[in-house]
Amino acid sequence: MKLDRLIAGHQSQGRQAAHHAIATRRVRVDGVVVTDSHHPVDRFMKVEMDHVLVQAPERALYLMLHKPVGILSATKDDQFQTVIDLIDDPDKHRLHIAGRLDRSTSGLVLLTNDGRWSKRLMAAEEKVPKVYLVETLDPISPDAVEAFARGFYFHTEDITTLPAELEILGERSARLTLHEGRYHQVKRMFHRVENLVVKLHRESIGTLTLPEDLPAGAWRELTREEVLAAA
Ligand code: URA
Repeated sequence: MKLDRLIAGHQSQGRQAAHHAIATRRVRVDGVVVTDSHHPVDRFMKVEMDHVLVQAPERALYLMLHKPVGILSATKDDQFQTVIDLIDDPDKHRLHIAGRLDRSTSGLVLLTNDGRWSKRLMAAEEKVPKVYLVETLDPISPDAVEAFARGFYFHTEDITTLPAELEILGERSARLTLHEGRYHQVKRMFHRVENLVVKLHRESIGTLTLPEDLPAGAWRELTREEVLAAA
């Protein structure tokens, strides 16, 4: 929202009065005088006029969670425990998930109440890399590396997957880097090379990596630096 709209809504004073108040240096955003009526404001900013609060800032939350297997990537469910149930924060019900995982998948899940941040992070055009550790039922053929790099055509969505990097770690284990996030994508890609994923774990999303000292089921807030670097 633009600053003049927020100020105009305050005590229903109208646009003209809002422009005047802003131009005459009576309005502060996060403690700093702003004279541009079109200055963008969001709900995380503190806005004052004549030192009186117009908008109290909402607390912006950015969390990383180590999702254990068996927990649902959802905010509410009647049947299964969800990632939100694992979080102990008074504002947890404002959170949404940036990039879900299947119930059988473990690893890094990001949660926030900042829709613009999660949208940037998950935007298809950003091609933010997501790194997975995969264990399979059958040995992984070396030919799979090229097949994953070429991409697979998915009939249901009428798309070809973006080039993905498959690093074979062992006979039945690999690290896979995707630059998109489609429904059951890892499992469907392995299905195409006639294999079955038996264990899947997400290590990282872009610049954010699950720390080794964050056990399954635990979460922590992202630092300001992590939030800014991620999206
Ligand atoms: N791909 C899958 O198949 N499952 C996930 O949970 C994530 C990526």
